[in-house]
Amino acid sequence: EAKTTGRDMALFYSMETDQRAVARQAMEQQLRRALERNELSLYYQPRLSAQGAQLLGVEALLRWTSPVLGSIPPSEFIPIAEETGMIRAIGSWVLQQACEQWVRWQQLALDTGPGDTVVPHPLAQVSISVNLSAAQMSDPSLVTDIEALLARTGMPAHRLELEITESQLMDNAHASELQLAALKLLGVQLSIDDFGTGYSSLAYLKRFDIDRLKVDKSFVHDMLSNPADMAITRAIIALGHTLGLKIVAEGVEDLATAQVLSALDCEELQGYHFSRPLPALELEAWACQHQPPGVSVRDVLAAA
Ligand code: C2E
Ligand code: MG
Ligand code: MG
Ligand code: MG
Repeated sequence: EAKTTGRDMALFYSMETDQRAVARQAMEQQLRRALERNELSLYYQPRLSAQGAQLLGVEALLRWTSPVLGSIPPSEFIPIAEETGMIRAIGSWVLQQACEQWVRWQQLALDTGPGDTVVPHPLAQVSISVNLSAAQMSDPSLVTDIEALLARTGMPAHRLELEITESQLMDNAHASELQLAALKLLGVQLSIDDFGTGYSSLAYLKRFDIDRLKVDKSFVHDMLSNPADMAITRAIIALGHTLGLKIVAEGVEDLATAQVLSALDCEELQGYHFSRPLPALELEAWACQHQPPGVSVRDVLAAA
């Protein structure tokens, strides 16, 4: 009896494994064509100052809508892109799209002024963040590719921010150190993403020339109700400040969390409370509503 059950279970599991393998293969096949078929797009999520809610930057987040498979979250297709090497082509497409988008937003500044007045557009001064995968980090041509991209688009290096996760950095810490130093020489900004979920050597953290730590959303999400998450968030903020870094909290979903983070001296906030990631045009509408062109942040706050 028990034997039969065990065999049935084994069969069940192997069927499940087969199904998963088939699904994965189908996804891989579709992903191979996704770029050329224009199925990939970038969404943008705002990042704001904790003091004053000024729009500081946007993070580019990849989306894939397959006519066959529907919308696939990046957590599912990016690992496949990494394992198959497709992430190189996809990653450089993301970088190029993001820089071209930044240049278009830059041009909005020139379009909004009535007559010959120059009116600051909320998106004209933002920086754009792009997530890098491990494969891109270990690509020896990454730095020259980015340098060429910046030259081609005319985007100033300091407006581009690259996000790298802790584990990516530590997996090959020595190579990462050299790669980051070269990127820093270009003048781009560097952030450590999902901070607190990986294993960081504090000694390396000091050696890497990093600008920001992004506190992982798993700590931010429950920090008001979970004392351990609150303690971890405070510790990351203190550590980052000791190292001269700015702190970004990601996954800020409500006003109370935003206020507490601001009181804890966390400089920057990102999350659904402000906006979900949006297509470029929707982000433009959001930005103009949040911070109307020509209106200073102080006016926005006074009206709120
Ligand atoms: P990430 O870089 O840490 O991005 C933040 C993720 O948190 C995004 O998920 C975003 O939609 C989500 N998020 C933002 N605010 C909130 C919030 O308030 N609450 C909750 N629950 N979630 C929030 P998304 O877009 O699904 O991306 C997941 C991950 O996929 C990213 O994590 C990043 O690691 C990776 N990824 C996305 N785009 C790219 C890309 O172009 N290249 C690479 N290499 N990785 C990417
Ligand atoms: Mg990120
Ligand atoms: Mg992030
Ligand atoms: Mg993150």
